[in-house]
Amino acid sequence: MSAANDQGFSTASIHAGYEPDSLYGSINTPIYASTTFAQNGLNELRGGYEYTRCGNPTITALEKTVAALEGAAFGRAFSSGMAATDVLLRIFLRPGSHLVFGHDAYGGTFRLIDQVFTQWGVEYTVVDTTDAQAVGQAVQENTALVWLETPSNPGLSITDIQAVADAVAGRAPLVVDNTFASPYLQNPLKLGAAAVLHSTTKYIGGHSDVVGGLVVTNDAKLDEDLLFYQGGTGAIPSVFDAYLTARGLKTLAVRMDRHCDNAEAIAKHLNASEKVATVLYPGLETHPGHEVAARQMRRFGAMISVRFHSEEAARAFCLNTKVIALAESLGGVESLVEHPASMTHQSVTDSVLEVPRDLVRISVGIEDIEDLISDVDAALAAIN
Ligand code: PLP
Repeated sequence: MSAANDQGFSTASIHAGYEPDSLYGSINTPIYASTTFAQNGLNELRGGYEYTRCGNPTITALEKTVAALEGAAFGRAFSSGMAATDVLLRIFLRPGSHLVFGHDAYGGTFRLIDQVFTQWGVEYTVVDTTDAQAVGQAVQENTALVWLETPSNPGLSITDIQAVADAVAGRAPLVVDNTFASPYLQNPLKLGAAAVLHSTTKYIGGHSDVVGGLVVTNDAKLDEDLLFYQGGTGAIPSVFDAYLTARGLKTLAVRMDRHCDNAEAIAKHLNASEKVATVLYPGLETHPGHEVAARQMRRFGAMISVRFHSEEAARAFCLNTKVIALAESLGGVESLVEHPASMTHQSVTDSVLEVPRDLVRISVGIEDIEDLISDVDAALAAIN
C-alpha cells in the first residue's frame, strides 16, 4: 500500500500536504493562530482564507496529509471523532431515513444514533456486518447510509469491506470508521467506501494528547457538504490541535509497526493462558476474520480484546496491571486496558450492542515487549 501521490507511506506522512513556507522556509507547518485573515479588498482574499471556523492553513495541511495517506482527493478535519460522525450522519440522514450499522459499533456512535437521530425520525437496523449478504438484505428503500467499523470496537470483528460495498452498491453509500486500523493498515476508499472516518484522537495523533476527527472522500459533492457543515456547525479543530495531530502523524508508520509487533506477541501469550477463555485478535489464525483481515489489512492492528471465564476475572485483570494503565481510549504510544461494559461501552448496556461483561480491551502500546509481557503475567496471576 502506498499513498495517493505514489510516494511511500512514511514519505507522504512526513511531506504530503505542506511545502516549506515562502517566508522563512519553516520545515514544520506554522501554527496560524489567527481567527481572521487580512483582505486586499472587499472579499479579495490573499491566500484563500477568511475566518478560521471556515478554514485555516494549519488545518488544511493536516487534511491534505490524511487524504493522501488514504488515497483520497479530499479531507476535512473536525474537533473530535464524534463531531465528524455527527456531521456525516446529518449530511446523509433526513427525517424518515433508515440507517444500517454493525452489531458491535462504537458505543458513542450507537448512542448518538439511538438517542439523538431517532428523535428526528431516523430509523435503524443493526446487523452483523461480517455477513455481507445480511447487510445487503437490511438495506431498504429508504436506507440512506450503511455504516461499518472494521476491526470493530470492542468485538474486534472483521468485515469484508469490498463484499459489503458490492452488496449495497447503487442502493446506499457506505461509510467506514477506520479508527482501529489507521490509514497505515487499511484504506477503505479503495475497497468501495464512499467516505472514511477517523477519530484522530487515536493512532493518527498517537500520543493521547489531542482529540480530533477527520473524514476523507473522493466525492466532490460530499466534500462540499463536509466543508459547509464543518464551518456551518463550528465543528472545526483548534489550530493547535491540528498541529499536534499532524506532528503525531509523521511517525504513524513506525509506531504502527511496533504496535503490531507488540500486539502479535501479547495475543499469542494470552492465548496460551488457562485463565483466558478467548483472545479476540484478527492476527490469530483461529480468529474468524483472519483471512479477510490478511487480505484487506497490511497488518492486524494493536487492539486486543480478551474474554475471561467471569466478570470478576476480567475486573481483576484490569486492576492488576502496572505498566498498562487502566484508562479509556486507545491508539497512543502507551498501553491501556479497560472494561468496556462498565467504561467506554456503558451506553450500550441492555441494547442489542451489549458487550459481554467478561471482556477486557487492551490497546497495545510501543513499550518494550518484555515489560508488557511481565505486566500481563502479573495481572493474570492476580486472577483467582
Ligand atoms: N470511532 C471509534 C471506533 C472510536 O473508538 C471512537 C472513540 O473512542 C470514536 C469513533 C469517537 O472519537 P472521539 O473520541 O475522537 O470523538
